[in-house]
Amino acid sequence: MKFGTKAVHAGVHPDPSTGAVMTPIYQTSTYAQEAPGQHKGYEYARTQNPTRSVLESNLAALENGKAAVCFSSGLAALDAVVRLLEPGDEILSTNDLYGGTYRQMVQVHEKYGIKSTFLPMENPAGVKKAIGKHTRLLWIETPTNPMLNLVDIRAICELARDKDILTCVDNTFASPYLQNPIDLGADLVLHSATKYLGGHSDVVLGAVISRSEKLAERLFFLQNAVGAVPGPQDCFLVLRGIKTLHLRVERACKNAKKIAKYLQAHPKVKNVYYPGFKDHPNHKIAKSQMRDFGAMVSFDLYENRMEEAQKVLGTTRIFTLAESLGGVESLIGHPATMTHASIPKAEREKVGLTDSLIRLSIGVEDADDLIEDLEQAFQNL
Ligand SMILES: *Cc1c(COP(=O)(O)O)cnc(C)c1O
Repeated sequence: MKFGTKAVHAGVHPDPSTGAVMTPIYQTSTYAQEAPGQHKGYEYARTQNPTRSVLESNLAALENGKAAVCFSSGLAALDAVVRLLEPGDEILSTNDLYGGTYRQMVQVHEKYGIKSTFLPMENPAGVKKAIGKHTRLLWIETPTNPMLNLVDIRAICELARDKDILTCVDNTFASPYLQNPIDLGADLVLHSATKYLGGHSDVVLGAVISRSEKLAERLFFLQNAVGAVPGPQDCFLVLRGIKTLHLRVERACKNAKKIAKYLQAHPKVKNVYYPGFKDHPNHKIAKSQMRDFGAMVSFDLYENRMEEAQKVLGTTRIFTLAESLGGVESLIGHPATMTHASIPKAEREKVGLTDSLIRLSIGVEDADDLIEDLEQAFQNL
């Protein structure tokens, strides 16, 4: 089955009791048993919920995994992945990554004896060198956030092969429509479904998709034992969002391409970070592992000052100034003070995340209107 058909149909069947075409929201905490221990596979809603099960089957199909396990947020999903490790184990992670991932790894898990090291994974030789005898997880985020570099998923996963090291790709920025890490060798894929999967900025949810049954079983155990599960209404919203994932991402990518070109030609703009440019340092990797180049574009200004960036950020009319990404509406953000404020300034600057860096999440509006909006905001500079 091809992607668009899977997005609409995978895991979804008319409800057996009524024929309802759309998956019902099973808003229940418990299920009647015919006799003690005799039930239809559902005992208690933290452990199993039919709306959630349909979403999990759908996500497993979209990422070509054996199973998907859903959580109450992307960060709850990350927490479950890290809990696969033991005290004394170490994580090697992409250095240019989602701020909340950095915060959880450093401020939550280190206290329990799991240390994380952050390094530029665009360079697989550097990762190979950094792998030590306690390394148990390679954490890959690609495209990276907010600098939009690419990590070669095949090359990094190859480094872990035949070793006792897990690989997990945070695939939130690409979405399963553009990139399928399990096909490229990854053990696990993480999604903040809050972003492209949900697609309408109306839900917070996370998921981990696993290559093997065995890892999935451990994740299902954690899902139930730790208890960070999503509610059925949220699962329904994500299922509904996924039905148009391919259409939304295709359109957003087209818009992003036009806007990146417009920015590149703009006299006030210094650098545009967009993997679709032929001279982007990782353009070839993007072509080899993604179906298109994504709908995130970052840029900075010639005058690299916070106040300059603020003149643009505060004056757009269609782009909304907000954190998050991946919705139908375009968003504009300032990583240094918003999404990446929890990363120390020195760490930020190492990756090129300057004070004037602006990140765009391009939506599905008309590109001409988006460009006109940016143009009027640039008039304030
Ligand atoms: C938003 C995001 C997360 C965290 O997801 P939540 O659903 O907000 O908990 C993780 N990784 C990336 C790349 C994200 O953009």
